[in-house]
Amino acid sequence: MADTYSYSRAHRAFEIASITLFFALLGHLGWRLWTATSTAGGFAALGLAALLGYLAADFVSGVVHWAGDTVGDQSTPIFGKNFITHFRNHHTDPKGITWHDFVETNGNNCIVTLPVLAIADYATPSGEGIGLFFCAFAAFLGLFVFGTNQFHKWAHADRPPAAARWLQRWGLILSPRHHQIHHDAPHDKYYCITVGWMNPVLHKLRFFRALERIIAVFRPELLYLDERKAFAAAGERPRRAG
Ligand SMILES: [Zn+2]
Ligand SMILES: [Zn+2]
Repeated sequence: MADTYSYSRAHRAFEIASITLFFALLGHLGWRLWTATSTAGGFAALGLAALLGYLAADFVSGVVHWAGDTVGDQSTPIFGKNFITHFRNHHTDPKGITWHDFVETNGNNCIVTLPVLAIADYATPSGEGIGLFFCAFAAFLGLFVFGTNQFHKWAHADRPPAAARWLQRWGLILSPRHHQIHHDAPHDKYYCITVGWMNPVLHKLRFFRALERIIAVFRPELLYLDERKAFAAAGERPRRAG
């Protein structure tokens, strides 16, 4: 059978190994958190850690996405070809990611979250307390960072699984309608792609404009705002990406 991916076999093998290790570590960590928790307050703390982990993953997804869209260009060392190109191509070809299989969709996020899970697994105490709370937060953060690319892919899919459609309908994962706000040109808001709950908050705070102002002071040559400037010069209103 022909390969369905267009990158090296070595990276593919690394992704498969990372996904396997990710689930092994997450399972072990989940078991340790569960057995260390015994009171109603402890289980409530696990619930709070899950909620904060979801919000943190959403925030991280927004910052990473904003950086890919806004900082550097395709010639930037290390990140240009593998990271920035991917984000900018996504605006012109939003459906492209729906062709990625499970390994390509989720491999890289497993690679970057493995160290977080490994530290949390090593540090998990045997009883309830603030240490357990932080390890639970790290576990949920890892789980939801893993989920981010999958949720983003489903937001673009013509026929996502029924369970994903249900979660989208209730706003529990990134919905196509919510994510479309980012895909309306010039792609300068609603960068969070795990669930999107942080998007209105960060938009109201003008958080990403503040990051851009900081970069404009220290390294203005790194900012890529061509699309936004062209859009403003043409006096256009936001439009659908198709
Ligand atoms: Zn984008
Ligand atoms: Zn998208």
